[in-house]
Amino acid sequence: MSRVYNFSAGPAVLPEEVLKEAADEMLDYRGTGMSVMEMSHRSKAFETIIQEAEADLRELMDIPDNYKVLFLQGGASQQFAMIPMNLMKNRVADYIVTGQWAKKAADEAEKYGTVNRIASSADKTFSYIPDCSDLPVSEDADYVYICENNTIYGTKFKELPNTKGKTLVADVSSCFLSEPVDVTKYGVIYGGVQKNIGPAGVVIVIIREDLITEDVLPGTPTMLKYKTHADADSLYNTPPAYGIYICGKVFKWLKKMGGLSAMKEKNEKKAKLLYDFLDESKLFKGTVEKKDRSLMNVPFVTGDKDLDAKFVKEAKEAGLENLKGHRTVGGMRASIYNAMPYEGVEALVAFMKKFEEENA
Ligand code: PMP
Repeated sequence: MSRVYNFSAGPAVLPEEVLKEAADEMLDYRGTGMSVMEMSHRSKAFETIIQEAEADLRELMDIPDNYKVLFLQGGASQQFAMIPMNLMKNRVADYIVTGQWAKKAADEAEKYGTVNRIASSADKTFSYIPDCSDLPVSEDADYVYICENNTIYGTKFKELPNTKGKTLVADVSSCFLSEPVDVTKYGVIYGGVQKNIGPAGVVIVIIREDLITEDVLPGTPTMLKYKTHADADSLYNTPPAYGIYICGKVFKWLKKMGGLSAMKEKNEKKAKLLYDFLDESKLFKGTVEKKDRSLMNVPFVTGDKDLDAKFVKEAKEAGLENLKGHRTVGGMRASIYNAMPYEGVEALVAFMKKFEEENA
């Protein structure tokens, strides 16, 4: 068996230690005689799994008591609808459009009310984060929405927008648990877990309790009300149990690694190695404004489509997988999530140097 360095944007690399542990427990989870996949979600064993997962996440992110943690399904995309359905009391929301995912969220919200796109970086192919210190936030906005890390374009909000007192809602799918956050600055933080935390199929929503009400848009399905899931501690129906179990293992791994401050340091070190190389390379070029560079997703190009394709092909042959950029932007993208070891980025940079010499 040999494992590659997997630079996929998601589903993405998971800690090897976690995968091995899950493999060891596959046939007999801790003396239960069955796999977590085969277990009732109402069993004592699963109750412990989900409760420990929540407690560990709360500890890692320092989540205050007045926030609920929900383990849901439907991916991040389902939140594009759940957010307006549950939060749009005035039927008005402000969206900051910094890429495809924020755009999709805004377009979906528009089905339910007025959406004001109060800032955008579409003018330069989403290669930067707009200045959000003094935006025309709508007086009657129910919330201000951001996609905090833009997976496709490789930008990240280094400062949260000034929402002028309005509730901030953030999609953190591709930067979840990559660095410490101040949860109190948000009304809702959510993300699909398939990048930094676990297998696809789980979406985690961290939501301030006062935002969880029965007062949702008329016709909102039971399953799409935050209250349904909050009241049932994410066990209203069968949750994505195996996924939650793996997320729980990743939380324990993160705690063992020293928590989110330690992860931030590691992530900065990995990203610096790659960005420093891009800045000095004569062949490769980063595509994002330096101040807005993501620690997680690093897009780059050679400027020649054929050479880009050659690079992706030869990198794959060298055990460096999934470096092709998103189909909408082309070029390359290296996603270097929490579980990507420093050695993986070293191997990538060494390969890029060699490729540059050979193709100068
Ligand atoms: N938001 C962001 C930032 C993403 O990167 C993605 C997926 N790549 C999504 C939302 C959509 O996630 P899902 O496929 O879980 O619906």
